[in-house]
Order: sequence, then C-alpha cells, then structure tokens
Amino acid sequence: MEEKSEILDAMNETVEMNNTLLAQVKDIVYNIRTEVKEIQPLKENVEKLKTELSRLKRETKKFEESIKHPKKCPTCGKPLLPEFKVCPYCGENIKLLPEPLIALKDYK
Ligand SMILES: [Zn+2]
Repeated sequence: MEEKSEILDAMNETVEMNNTLLAQVKDIVYNIRTEVKEIQPLKENVEKLKTELSRLKRETKKFEESIKHPKKCPTCGKPLLPEFKVCPYCGENIKLLPEPLIALKDYK
C-alpha cells in the first residue's frame, strides 16, 4: 500500500507539472496569436506604402522626363514638333514660356 501511494504521488506530481507546462504553452500560443493579429494590419500598411511609393517614383520619373524633353507638352505630355508654338492638344502656349516657368506650372 505504502509503495502504491508513493507511485500515485509521483504520478500526480507529473500530471501537475504537465498541466503547468501546458498552461505556459497555451499562454505563449495566445501571445503569439495576439502579436500576429497586431502585425497583420502593419503588413498591409507597408504594402500600401510600397504601392504608393512606386506610384510616386513613376510620376517623378514622368515629371523629370517632361522637363528633360521640352518637345513634349508640359501640360498634357503629348509629343510636339519643334516648330509648334502652341500645343494642338490642350492649347498650351509653349514657346513663350521659359523652361523654369514650365516646370513651376507643373507643380501647381
Ligand atoms: Zn498640351
């Protein structure tokens, strides 16, 4: 009888230890889940920012191109022949505007 109760005690201890470990594991899993939930929207925001950034990069490049190649209309971006004084697409007066002014107009 004595021996059996010792074995039972030992078993009981083991079960309790397992329960404590299990509770700890549950806590950890819960914490990880919470963190993942917090990270998810951040990830989406980063993706949105990436898209926005590449869009801005494209627009900056387009803008730089329009300054580098004045033979395109600065207002509508359509290609122009060198002898054109007025854009046939949007009516922009090209020859009268000095280049820095064209660039400033684009910023509006
Ligand atoms: Zn134009």
